[in-house]
Amino acid sequence: MKRYVAACSFGKDSMATVILAKKYKEPLDEVVYCEVMFDEETSGEVPEHRDFVYRIAIPRLKRAGIPVHIVRGEKTFVGQFQHRISGEGRSAGKMWSWPLCGKCYVQRDLKVRPMDAWKRKHWQGDEIIQYVGIADDEMDRLARMDSYQYPTVSLLEKYGVTEDMAMDLCRKHGLLSPIYEFAPRNGCFFCPNAKERELRHLYDHHPDLWGRLLELQALPEKATELFTRELRFDEIDAAFRMDDAQLDLLSEKETIPYDYERICQNALRP
Ligand code: SF4
Repeated sequence: MKRYVAACSFGKDSMATVILAKKYKEPLDEVVYCEVMFDEETSGEVPEHRDFVYRIAIPRLKRAGIPVHIVRGEKTFVGQFQHRISGEGRSAGKMWSWPLCGKCYVQRDLKVRPMDAWKRKHWQGDEIIQYVGIADDEMDRLARMDSYQYPTVSLLEKYGVTEDMAMDLCRKHGLLSPIYEFAPRNGCFFCPNAKERELRHLYDHHPDLWGRLLELQALPEKATELFTRELRFDEIDAAFRMDDAQLDLLSEKETIPYDYERICQNALRP
């Protein structure tokens, strides 16, 4: 059976792809969304984006008659963070801890592998045509489309839609994720590639999640202490607190819960 599918993160480019498919009556049989989980209960999406996905985007697509499949791997970020390195090397026995910039195990274990497993189970034997959210002005990515596993089509390229135009298209249809108000792209809230503005947003608006990352930073026996290429997470936290203190010497901003006992219990959890 021939099936037209769109992998959708609900960022501007993949969202615009679905809008174009509807607008130009392109065949589209299903949308597949892969959600990275921070732990068993907590999404790895930035909360504003997660709310947009579940409260606005998915219901709109379903009302438009487009089936949406949600794929989640069995593994979580917290579980992988505490995964112990095997073997004999210098880091043997330590936790994987923070993903490395440019070599992210979250991408591999919590996105690519669950998606591959899902495709094997649900697309086996079908002729798949996959729509990808690559904009008309993303030359390098368009050039790499030939190497994809399935025949791949960019509707953004076909209809001459650049990244900026994709943003406008989503906005016009009320389907632009609010994440673009404070971030250039959507990604995990614990991403080491996040810009300072994104981290500051998490610090200001989601202290519970910020506190969870501080707890992970405090765990012993990590393969790396560095969250970014240069800084530990608690150093970023200290810098924000310092910024706040300088802005308002009278500020009595509440400290984020920092429960070391709970951290150690979490670390021992299977
Ligand atoms: S958004 Fe960041 S942490 Fe998440 S998969 Fe991509 S690179 Fe990894």
